[in-house]
Amino acid sequence: MTLIETTPPAGVHPQVLLLPWYLSGTLPKSDRESVTSHLGSCAGCRAELESLTMLRRTLRATLVAASPATRSARRWRGLAAAAAVLIVIESGVLLAQGVAPVATVASRGLAPAPVRLEVTANPTTTELAFRSVLLSLSAHVVAGPTSDGRYLLELGDANPARVAAALERAHASSAIVGAAVREQ
Ligand SMILES: [Zn+2]
Repeated sequence: MTLIETTPPAGVHPQVLLLPWYLSGTLPKSDRESVTSHLGSCAGCRAELESLTMLRRTLRATLVAASPATRSARRWRGLAAAAAVLIVIESGVLLAQGVAPVATVASRGLAPAPVRLEVTANPTTTELAFRSVLLSLSAHVVAGPTSDGRYLLELGDANPARVAAALERAHASSAIVGAAVREQ
């Protein structure tokens, strides 16, 4: 029996089925000669042989790189690190994309996030004096007072210059002993 008697699918030369064995040099002499002579006249089978050769080289290179086990482990760690870097980069891109529309909205003059101040009321101040300071700051209380006299205020204007002015006014007021912008 010769391998070449295998029936190939329609439109496929029988010799193409032998190419893997032809490539590995394990074909019986008669079949090898038949394939060799066919390759001389068939560009399709030559192209197939070429792609099989490439595939074989790639597989070999992969197998060589994957053995011994330690080298393989190092290789996988390298790949994992590369994947992590890629994730970070992609997250960064997503964050940048997320930030861009916010900046656009702010530049269009829509209200940005309100600014909050944490102020500590002077324990000796009157409620009236404290309230008048709040009015002058255009601020309202969103939380407080705490047991140590701290209030969380929200400013009606998030414009940085006005926030700075409000802070200055708060610091200047005798009704308030401490004021700072509270990060949200
Ligand atoms: Zn052919």
